[in-house]
Amino acid sequence: MENTAVSTDVLKGGEFLIRESQPADIFIPEEFTEEQKMIQQMTADFIKNELDPVRDRIEKQEAGLVPGLLKKMGDLGLLGAHMPTEYGGMELDTNTNTIIADVAGPMGSFCVPFAAHTGIGMLPILYFGTEAQRQKYLPGMITGDVKAAYCLTEPGSGSDALNAKTRADLSADGSHYLISGQKMWISNAGFADVFIVFAKVGGEKFTGFIVDANTPGITLGAEEDKLGIKGSSTRQVFFENVQVPADNVLGQVGKGHLIAFNALNIGRFKLGVMCVGGSKKVLEMAANYANERHQFGQPIANFGAIQYKLAEMAIRTFAVESASYRTSQLMQVKKDAETQNGKSFGEATLEAAEEYAIECSILKVYGSEVSHYCVDENVQIHGGIGFSEEFPAARAYRDSRINRIYEGTNEINRLLMFDQIFKRAMKGELDLVGPAWAVQKELTSMPSMEKLEGEYAEEKRAIADFRKVLLMTAGAAAKMQMDGKLNLKEEQEILMNCADMLIDLFAAESMLLRVQKLAERNDKAQAQEVYDAMLQVFLHDATARMQKNATDALASFAEGDLLKTFMMGLKRFTKYPPVNVREKRRLIAEVVLKANTWPF
Ligand SMILES: Cc1cc2nc3c(=O)[nH]c(=O)nc-3n(C[C@H](O)[C@H](O)[C@H](O)COP(=O)(O)OP(=O)(O)OC[C@H]3O[C@@H](n4cnc5c(N)ncnc54)[C@H](O)[C@@H]3O)c2cc1C
Repeated sequence: MENTAVSTDVLKGGEFLIRESQPADIFIPEEFTEEQKMIQQMTADFIKNELDPVRDRIEKQEAGLVPGLLKKMGDLGLLGAHMPTEYGGMELDTNTNTIIADVAGPMGSFCVPFAAHTGIGMLPILYFGTEAQRQKYLPGMITGDVKAAYCLTEPGSGSDALNAKTRADLSADGSHYLISGQKMWISNAGFADVFIVFAKVGGEKFTGFIVDANTPGITLGAEEDKLGIKGSSTRQVFFENVQVPADNVLGQVGKGHLIAFNALNIGRFKLGVMCVGGSKKVLEMAANYANERHQFGQPIANFGAIQYKLAEMAIRTFAVESASYRTSQLMQVKKDAETQNGKSFGEATLEAAEEYAIECSILKVYGSEVSHYCVDENVQIHGGIGFSEEFPAARAYRDSRINRIYEGTNEINRLLMFDQIFKRAMKGELDLVGPAWAVQKELTSMPSMEKLEGEYAEEKRAIADFRKVLLMTAGAAAKMQMDGKLNLKEEQEILMNCADMLIDLFAAESMLLRVQKLAERNDKAQAQEVYDAMLQVFLHDATARMQKNATDALASFAEGDLLKTFMMGLKRFTKYPPVNVREKRRLIAEVVLKANTWPF
């Protein structure tokens, strides 16, 4: 499946930090093809017809229910949409797979078995399995007859995953390994047929294995009593001298970190996208209730305080949705290019995810935090009823909380963003020095008096300025580090500030490009002024966040005249004019309330 309305001169991973994009570079939900709409509808129908009627039973972990639903998804082809046809998959393009994740977002607890099985369960085999391993495992996983789980975390090693204690020892004749250890928080453990297990060969070499769940020596802990996603199976898995054929090593001995981390890139991306779908559903729930509930003789939807929340939910969800489809398109183009270079489907998919690892981390963090905002304000809009387990707002609130924790906590993902940017800069893949130096030069020159002209001129300048603020701050911190005056590894607060600015830059630009692209189209769902309003309110607030994050970071390591110069630069680069946010938010809320659902 192809979409033709996009250019192929696309950014490399992380390059948005130094180079702007054009509307033609991005893919937007308004451009779904007929075929993509069909898959979208098929996924939505599955949720409506198969999942919705049994949600309460899923929450009680009724035996066989979740595996049965996975099988039904397999029958529809939805477990193999991202898998090559040679193993029974549909081999759909990246954007269509993004659409499936988006629609699947409101599946609540069932998001976890679906995402764990199709993502961290299957992808390691596609990416790193031998042909024999793929032939053996993928067809059954795609039909849903074989269910997968991913065993990385241990009681003593979560974020520090490579510090695992589980070990694997090769038998004297080299025919098999004996795996012993303990894994924790394993999704799907209760019904999985196959575990992807990470263990250290000889206690040292971190390695991936494919382990059949019925191998003697494997036992399961009890189901965890969790805050949310109660319908998903989460257990400890114990391995005691579990005999695994040497042929079941996944990838190379000692290279398990490549599997563990690469499988997570796409997992993070999809988690962000599923949060978009969830947030849209939650906004619908909030709008429905606000329209229905009367206080002081009128619907609570009439109150500005409620409209503010609805508008913010819409703006933030629109921002992360725009960033999601933009990233999806970047991966799509990269994948196509790698395929044309002769790479296999699996290799090309892996390289695309690796290239855009920074964007995947951004989406994981931003998607989960937008979702958190939406579920929280939805409970608030519901008042007391929001606090009752009889209504879905409470469940959505509880279910969303995990998204900030797994697939790498949001702290770890924030740290990874600049870790990867600096690594790419060191390898010469990302020219940070040139653009950072240009900003330094601009700081000491006269401000430009050039008049802004053209459509979205203020918005374009605001985003160009966000880039300058970030380059000024991160560039100055990196310079301090090079001069031996700062050790950024010990200064996480600064890295968190920079990560937050990076998220705002990516989200703001993704929104601008989408709004510009929409301005050229005749088939918009809403009047252009509503899209413009969302963009303007976002930029208004993001400008304030930029100011705060940059000030916090700069004042942490600069002082005296140097700090004064930075503060003057910051003032110069945060000039987006004040917006009548009250009026704009009211307009956005009006559209949401009238549609009584996600209106964009
Ligand atoms: C419901 C659920 C399902 C899960 N499913 C799976 C699964 O299927 N497979 C699997 O392998 N794992 C799974 N996990 C585990 C999950 O990935 C980990 O919980 C997560 O990676 C965090 O590890 P931890 O819980 O040990 O927290 P810790 O690593 O102990 O972190 C605790 C806190 O410290 C912070 N922190 C840690 N290190 C740093 C640092 N260097 N700098 C700054 N802050 C830091 C963290 O951000 C966090 O806020 C699941 C967890 C849950 C709760």
